[in-house]
Parts: sequence; structure tokens; C-alpha cells
Amino acid sequence: MKIGDYSGLTDTGRKRRRNEDAYVVAPPLFGVADGMGGAQAGELASGLAAAAMREANPNGSGEERVSDLIQEANRRVHDRASTDAAASGMGTTMTVALVERGRVVFGHVGDSRAYLIRDGKIEQLTDDHSLVAELVRSGRLTPEEAETHPQRSVITRAVGTEAEVDVDTFSIEPAPGDLFLICSDGLTDMVDDRTIFQAIEKHRGNLEDAAKALVVAANRGGGEDNITVVFFEVSGDDSGDTAVTQQSPVVVAAESSEDEDTLSGLEDVKPVDTMVVPPEDAAAVSDPPKRRSRALPIIAALAVLLIIAAAVLWLLDHA
Ligand code: CA
Repeated sequence: MKIGDYSGLTDTGRKRRRNEDAYVVAPPLFGVADGMGGAQAGELASGLAAAAMREANPNGSGEERVSDLIQEANRRVHDRASTDAAASGMGTTMTVALVERGRVVFGHVGDSRAYLIRDGKIEQLTDDHSLVAELVRSGRLTPEEAETHPQRSVITRAVGTEAEVDVDTFSIEPAPGDLFLICSDGLTDMVDDRTIFQAIEKHRGNLEDAAKALVVAANRGGGEDNITVVFFEVSGDDSGDTAVTQQSPVVVAAESSEDEDTLSGLEDVKPVDTMVVPPEDAAAVSDPPKRRSRALPIIAALAVLLIIAAAVLWLLDHA
């Protein structure tokens, strides 16, 4: 198995003054960090995370290595946030992929995403660590309700906001031709999975063009946040095995995006830690919007039946 083509691109978007995203394209390691915090702390946090990725111990392997790498980033961001008042409460998402012999290992914290494009389909590999995503997973919110939920900007896990961080890790056994995408929510909040997939298919032969196309699509969709896109492709496998191994999350493609940037419309809210709530507390702060009445479709169906019945009776009468 070899790493084929790859690319990375970040864009400030149309509404923000600064770009708080960072990415790393350092084969065999790829990653995205989306920082948050007052003033310039978001940039600082994602920058520290990117540095931790670039300086990752090259000797480790597997899920332990990506987990260690994110733990190291957590230490650096948290230490800085604890000693620098201007950086207090800062944090960042991190989604990292390491291509190893025969597999791609992921580490993930926050609401950036990793996707796999395979066999004409796009599949989200990571779970969003956001309040609305937790509520959708627990069945308390529909994906549609999540889109407009007032607390959709709340994330439940971040790198650097606490002394310890819980890291999701998993591995994918790649098939030749697999394309992986890692991106920040500035893409997925503006562009749905189907549109992302179509843009990629159109530029499949050139991943730099594909990255540009996604940035253009996100800006066309509003460009409300920083947009970051990292692609890498896996080619030539001697084993020819295409199975997906381990606890690779099964996520249906083309779900609508549920969350918004951690700071979207909340730039004035300084203490970032108030926006990171543990999942178990999610219920306490949740206030799901009212469900649309299910009675309306039933009433409509009954009305149609009555009209049909009346028509039949009339026809029988006049036959
Ligand atoms: Ca963001």
C-alpha cells in the first residue's frame, strides 16, 4: 500500500477576519485542527496542535501513536492556556490520520471530520463531538432539528480545555483508490455531503483542484467560517484486501450537517470552556425545538379519502 496523491488547503472564508484553522500534510501523517478562543487564542491553539503533529514521535505505531500525539497537543495547549491569561480557555479540534503498513489510523477530538470516498460513495468516519450530534445519537433530536438547534455551536470535547482529553481512535484497512478527506466544520456547515462528493468526483484526477472546488463551494454557501480541506489517496495494495477493519464507525453518507462552528455568531463570548460541555451534561442544557405536529398528514389523508368516497358515491348515483 502506498500513499498516492495528496493536497491541503485552508481559506479564511468570507465572514471571519482571521483563520483559526491549521492543517498538516506531512505524509504519512495528515491532520486538521480548528482552534477556538478569544482574541488570537484560537490560532495559537490550532498552531500548537499542528506543531505537535509535525513533531510527532516517528517511532510509535498505530492507534497508540495518534492518541499519544493528540495527548501531547492537549498538554501543550492546556499548559499554555493555564499560564497565559490571554490564552485562557482556548482549545482546538484535532482530526489526525496516519498511513501505516496496511491501514490508516485515525485519532479524533471535536467536530472536524474525516470522510472516506470509496466505490462511488462518501462516508463520514468520525463522530462529531458536539452537543447536537450527541442528542441526535441518543435519539433525542432529529438531524433536521439539529440543524436549527440554538445550541448547535456547543462542542462536547476539545483539545486543550482540560488537563485530560478523551481521544477517539480507529483504523481503516484501505482499498486501492480510496480517497480520504479531513476537513473543518467551515466546509461541512456550508456544504452537504452529497455536494462535497459531487465536487470531488468532478476533480478526482487532481486533488489540488478538488480542494479548491470545496473551498469555492463553502464560500458560495456563505463562507461563514474558516474552511480547511486535506486529501490523501491510497494506491497500489499487494494484498488486495478491501475490508474495513476494527471499530470503523458506520455512518450513513449524505446526512445533513448538524453543527456549526464553536464560535459562530458567538465571537463576543470569551470563555471558551463554557462552550465545551461533557456529553452527560448535554441533556441538562438541551432544549429541543418543538416537533412538528404529526396530526397534519393524517388529517390531510382523511380529507383525501372523504373526497374520493364522495366522488365514488356521486358516480354510482349518476351511473
Ligand atoms: Ca470552525
